[in-house]
Amino acid sequence: MKKIAVLGSTGSIGVSTLEIVRAFPDCYRVVALTAGNNIDLLHKQIDIFRPRIVSVVSAIDAQKLSQQLKGVDVQICSGIEGMIHCATVPEADMVVAAVVGAAGLVPTMAAIKSGKDVALANKETLVTAGSLIMAEVERQKINLIPVDSEHSAIFQSMTGQRRQDVQRLILTASGGPFREHGLAQFRTITPADALAHPNWDMGRKISIDSATMMNKGLEVIEARWLFDFPATMIDVHIHPESIIHSLVEYRDGAVMAQLGVPDMKTPIAYALSWPERLPLSQHPLDLCNVGNLSFSEPDTERFPCLRLAYAALTLGGTVPAVMNAANEVAVEAFLNNKLSFLGISQVIEKAMYQHQGEDLTTVEQALQADLWGRHKAHELISGGLV
Ligand code: MG
Repeated sequence: MKKIAVLGSTGSIGVSTLEIVRAFPDCYRVVALTAGNNIDLLHKQIDIFRPRIVSVVSAIDAQKLSQQLKGVDVQICSGIEGMIHCATVPEADMVVAAVVGAAGLVPTMAAIKSGKDVALANKETLVTAGSLIMAEVERQKINLIPVDSEHSAIFQSMTGQRRQDVQRLILTASGGPFREHGLAQFRTITPADALAHPNWDMGRKISIDSATMMNKGLEVIEARWLFDFPATMIDVHIHPESIIHSLVEYRDGAVMAQLGVPDMKTPIAYALSWPERLPLSQHPLDLCNVGNLSFSEPDTERFPCLRLAYAALTLGGTVPAVMNAANEVAVEAFLNNKLSFLGISQVIEKAMYQHQGEDLTTVEQALQADLWGRHKAHELISGGLV
């Protein structure tokens, strides 16, 4: 029986994680849950999974929840302290880090420091402070298992192989809803257009990241830290069918790939059960029905965010943290109709290049760079500087 804490339980990955837990009650038990503002769903999850401790963002929501749950044996916390509490709860064997954005950094680091295995869905944590996270993973000798489908695919394609034989990692990208758009069409994109992803059903932030292809940029940086290969060894291929989840090329020319239907359940379940596999009763992949698989090079002129992510990775230090923070603010502004779709990459680029990058040595420094990036992005957006 594996005892798990789920950070971000009401988000898309959190909900899917709990569905798997529910389907395998003999294998998993939930001991802690954290949520943002969706306390109605958290309430339902508490009723079903009976965690010992939960946390929400605001103290007011925590109070509301306490009143609703009078007589139920559950500790209710709030804020970053509450999230750390849930991430380090002594009885948990594994923490599923499924918070969206750089907000996941501190609790994920706390989980690692307390010796928990981590199933990582929160790519922004590695983008913001990858070197520090991986050093701590090494120090604590914990397992950090990727949940992101591309990284799960690479992880699986490297199993049983020697890492010195790897020549290249190839991340696949669906290309998002605007893959076929001409440059002129990008001017009129609305949040509703951008939220409609062709293949994957995801949360709002990642859907926009997918539409700008910043998601793939973040994933390149995530891969750099997870697998410890330089940016020059990580490529991106557009693969609209989303059947091949990623590939690893070896020095003898062999290429290993992992395939499946585009459904996050498989990579989540694999992260929970690794090195075993759960009998998931998924729809089997019917390649004959899929027919053709196609590939092309990404176009960084139409999707500048991908180019910016590679640049941030090359510049290193605190620059990726700033890039990520500016992206989070820009995406939020776009969703609130305060910024155009094209404005997203412009805000990020301006913030990145106005930042005085430094080597990254502490989490505090990463958080400061994150804060600087947020302020700068807000300033650029509210000042109409993009
Ligand atoms: Mg992904």
